[in-house]
Amino acid sequence: MDLSIKGLSISPSSTLAIDAKAKKMKAEGLDIIGFGAGEPDFDTPEHIKRAAIAAIESGFTKYTPASGILELKQAICNKFKKDNGLDYTPEQIIVSNGAKHSLVNIFQALCNPGDEVIIPAPYWVSYPEMVKMADATPVIIRTSEHSGFKFSVQQIKQALTRKTKAIIINSPCNPTGMVYSHRELAEIADLAVEHGIFVVSDEIYEKLIYDGYEHVSIASINDKIKEQTIVVNGVSKTYAMTGWRIGYTASNSEIAKIMGNMQSHATSNPNSIAQKAAEAAINGEQDIVNDMVSAFITRRNYMVKRIHSIPGLSCVTPNGAFYVLMNISKFIGAEIDGIEIKGSNDFADALLEKAKVALVPGSGFGIDTHVRLSYATSLQNITEGLNRIENLLNKVNR
Ligand code: PMP
Ligand code: GLU
Repeated sequence: MDLSIKGLSISPSSTLAIDAKAKKMKAEGLDIIGFGAGEPDFDTPEHIKRAAIAAIESGFTKYTPASGILELKQAICNKFKKDNGLDYTPEQIIVSNGAKHSLVNIFQALCNPGDEVIIPAPYWVSYPEMVKMADATPVIIRTSEHSGFKFSVQQIKQALTRKTKAIIINSPCNPTGMVYSHRELAEIADLAVEHGIFVVSDEIYEKLIYDGYEHVSIASINDKIKEQTIVVNGVSKTYAMTGWRIGYTASNSEIAKIMGNMQSHATSNPNSIAQKAAEAAINGEQDIVNDMVSAFITRRNYMVKRIHSIPGLSCVTPNGAFYVLMNISKFIGAEIDGIEIKGSNDFADALLEKAKVALVPGSGFGIDTHVRLSYATSLQNITEGLNRIENLLNKVNR
């Protein structure tokens, strides 16, 4: 019997696949160091957990409005005002089951069959598949280490067609850690306004930013681009709340309405208890975020230094998020302990099998000469993982 052609064309998430594989191997008693999925190793802060417990105890366990409770939407509006200088009203906010769900909603709301969405590579694994799920076509523009993994406005111009519907901006970026400046975003905004294309601005790593870099939301550049931008954010990364599944969007009211209508049929409301927890996270004290940022900086510095000290490996220093995109091109064509390395998948397989280190092949991010390591794990794990990588690669003839 025939199944959905579109469904059959969707590949599984490589980040989640590696994570599941590493967790399974650990459960089988193997000593795996996981640099796989981007998930903070910190526990969800106490005051957030307490808000969830209070929600359960007070019976806040029923359906809520499908696009989220007013108190949480208000907290999100206040956050946008305070952090990004953006004015939104609660009906412009849609709360969903994680930022991943928010992104799926956005492409469903924006795209018609055949529309094109420009995605700068290296990109987060899920973007092209989400675009395809909305019957649209991902149009990839390539960036390289030479430009610090940033694309130029010229590249967008070359990719524009009559069918271009939107461009995805992810700053700070997963997997490169690159951060766009106000000036760079202003140029992109001008182009988007001139050509009438939407900007999907994924700002989930907004708070995880280092080296004096500042996060700018492209929506804050002027009113015209604000109208054409859908901002995505969530609590997973900032508050170590990956399992709670709360993400949100801010957009013009028309787009918000479409997304809200769709969500009301697809999932109904995001978990009521998690919404109360997210409200406490966004309204509560933010010192915990600073503590996490300090830990991430120490880990990043160590990881980058070690990578440069291992012959054949290199990386660009990331300025945000919690990933290092490691260049393995010098190992392509080599053999690692009997495994022939044709690309990043073989490299990741070799490291998992021979060194018991899990990392994500760059192939899923549109860059097969690199692999991604997450430093959202303890310094002890990072040290041990890099020792293992060094020991294995030192034996390789390149
Ligand atoms: N965007 C980016 C760039 C991500 O790395 C992630 C990873 N989780 C998400 C969105 C989705 O986050 P979540 O669904 O956990 O809110
Ligand atoms: N976004 C994280 C990552 O890229 C978590 C896994 C996922 O949602 O893809 O590893």
